[in-house]
Amino acid sequence: MNSNQCSFCGRKRNEVQMLISGQSGFICENCIEQAHVIVKDSVSKPGSSGPAESIEELKKPKEIKEFLNQYVIGQDQAKKQLSIAVYNHYKRLLHAKDENREVELEKSNIIMIGETGTGKTLLAKTIARELNVPFCIVDATILTEAGYVGEDVESILSRLLMVADYDVEKAERGIVFIDEIDKIARKSDNPSLTRDVSGEGVQQGLLKLLEGSIVNVPPQGGRKHPDQKYIQVNTQNILFIAGGAFDGIKEIIERRMNKQAIGFSSEKINKADEDEYILTHINAIDLRTFGLIPELLGRFPIITYLDKLTKETMVRIMKEPKNSIINQFVELFKMDGAHLVFTDGAIEKIVEETIEKGLGARGLRGTTEKVLEDYMFSIGEEKEIILTEENIFVNK
Ligand code: ADP
Repeated sequence: MNSNQCSFCGRKRNEVQMLISGQSGFICENCIEQAHVIVKDSVSKPGSSGPAESIEELKKPKEIKEFLNQYVIGQDQAKKQLSIAVYNHYKRLLHAKDENREVELEKSNIIMIGETGTGKTLLAKTIARELNVPFCIVDATILTEAGYVGEDVESILSRLLMVADYDVEKAERGIVFIDEIDKIARKSDNPSLTRDVSGEGVQQGLLKLLEGSIVNVPPQGGRKHPDQKYIQVNTQNILFIAGGAFDGIKEIIERRMNKQAIGFSSEKINKADEDEYILTHINAIDLRTFGLIPELLGRFPIITYLDKLTKETMVRIMKEPKNSIINQFVELFKMDGAHLVFTDGAIEKIVEETIEKGLGARGLRGTTEKVLEDYMFSIGEEKEIILTEENIFVNK
């Protein structure tokens, strides 16, 4: 045994900061750190140490959708397309490992279009949970073209690295949700004299992340600067899901389809059905008219839409998901020994109040909090609380 070197990597005592002795050898701090990473990866998450190794292990699209059904209500079209896209994506990963492959499978990033609070983020988050891959959400509005105030597009990957505990390999299989992609639309069709640094410039910047290349990522995010150390991340297998409300897209689709809104209303189709009908026809041309550049659209071959939430869907959202708002509050009250019951009337009232606020399903929790405020304040005093539509008062 050489007491002057690490028994694992062979580094000399003067090349390391410390050498810890064992019964028949020494270990340096570098090897301890490496061993720690290996142990953490293989022990901390049994059964989830990596992606599927064979096609049999992959969940089929139908199974993925089943899983999504537990958390996301309605939005069948989006769930279906997302399940297929994710399945194909992970099939691609298996395929890429095959050294004899002749056909190169390209990835299919996804754009989801839907009003705020309809479940876009929830869908992406739930998918990532099911697949057990790192997932991060970034807001496209904070990004600007390199050299301007704001964050470089590479900072998107810094977040992914962060959630992957800086395990590059893990991050390289992750999912990135880019929210508010519609906010980086080109500001106008005419190229203007002033540069569009937060619109088209960012879209250009995103291209290189989306197409699958090796990108230098500043570990802490933000803005790149010259004397910073970078981590190289290969984006080839990172799935990008973009979401946005795309206000006004309906009119764009209508115009393309040569149909006037007046025509629809005279046919007396109800408003929600009409919106849905028009949205089913969305395609890349409409998004291009909206202001996304063709190169970017080329990297998002799958375009899907989320339906506007109806009152019935909102009621189901209150009740049905595994961690539904109702279940959460019932649980909260149970901890104080109180039995909380929501009648159907009460749930409908909460939904109506929320719809008025126009926040989509996102507002449901806030309204429920408000409704329960007094009960939560005097918790423990009543053992049985039955909420009916009569005892719901919401201060607006
Ligand atoms: P978006 O990203 O479309 O703006 P989110 O996915 O962030 O909306 O939705 C906000 C919240 O509203 C979610 O966290 C969830 O609680 C609820 N929600 C929205 N849509 C649905 C849905 N279809 N099913 C279940 N819950 C939903």
